[in-house]
Amino acid sequence: MNTSYHRSQKSLGQNFLVDGRMQQRIVEACALQADEVVVEIGPGKGAITRRICPLVKGLIAVEKDRSLAALLAHEFQQPQVKIVQADFLKWDMSLLPEGVVVVGNIPYYISTPIIEKILAHKDKIRRAFLTVQLEFGLRLAATAGGKDYGSLSCFVQYYADVQVLFKISRHCFNPQPKVNSCFVSLTMKSKPEVAARDERQLFNLIQKAFTQRRKTIVNALKKTVGQERLMDELQRLGIDLQSRPEDLTLLNYIKLSNTLVV
Ligand code: SAM
Repeated sequence: MNTSYHRSQKSLGQNFLVDGRMQQRIVEACALQADEVVVEIGPGKGAITRRICPLVKGLIAVEKDRSLAALLAHEFQQPQVKIVQADFLKWDMSLLPEGVVVVGNIPYYISTPIIEKILAHKDKIRRAFLTVQLEFGLRLAATAGGKDYGSLSCFVQYYADVQVLFKISRHCFNPQPKVNSCFVSLTMKSKPEVAARDERQLFNLIQKAFTQRRKTIVNALKKTVGQERLMDELQRLGIDLQSRPEDLTLLNYIKLSNTLVV
């Protein structure tokens, strides 16, 4: 495909993965099966698309940039490949078959809404593999006790097992971004370890706690829950009253939230 004239658009987060070995490493890490259907977010100039195409039963590549989508449609005319010119965030996923694998080197500025959309369609998606900013990937996978752990970690891990598979140097891209990236996998859980009785309440509670992460959990949540009730429930769950929001595991938050559902 002749993309030499294509001017990369900063506003679309266009940093193309030009390192061939890294492209191959990414595709191998996805361990795609011949009977799987892949949805690729932001195929760009087709670096990953080209390598995935011969491996799977179907490939739907969703690219927002009109000129790149047209070039891809010209190159990929195989019946198992569909190039869709669309904004992934607005694209209708309801007609997808179940069990698709999502792959994407996604624009950093919309990483969170993309992940929210993937999780909202978790019934259709078996696994997702994403290239994200390194710091963002560490936050997705962080567990209780560390500085990277926060409401995003809890939200994503409620629905999926998250792993940072490897780091990707910024030198692998053109144009080079200022920061390094990493490759993460999200494997959807068929159900959470313990289900929240009210998911919205759970995530509100977690969000409230982490907006005041330097306080103790009691001070962070006493206005929301009421100090006495909060202390009773924390003690009942065996949680130290001096704990800070980052000391509570996702399971702690789920149990706490469940006891507070009226
Ligand atoms: N996959 C290519 C690669 O690895 O070289 C390109 C990656 S580049 C970081 C991100 C790609 O996502 C660009 O091609 C950009 O045009 C596309 N993109 C940006 N916003 C998008 C959106 N909302 N929906 C779909 N594609 C989008």
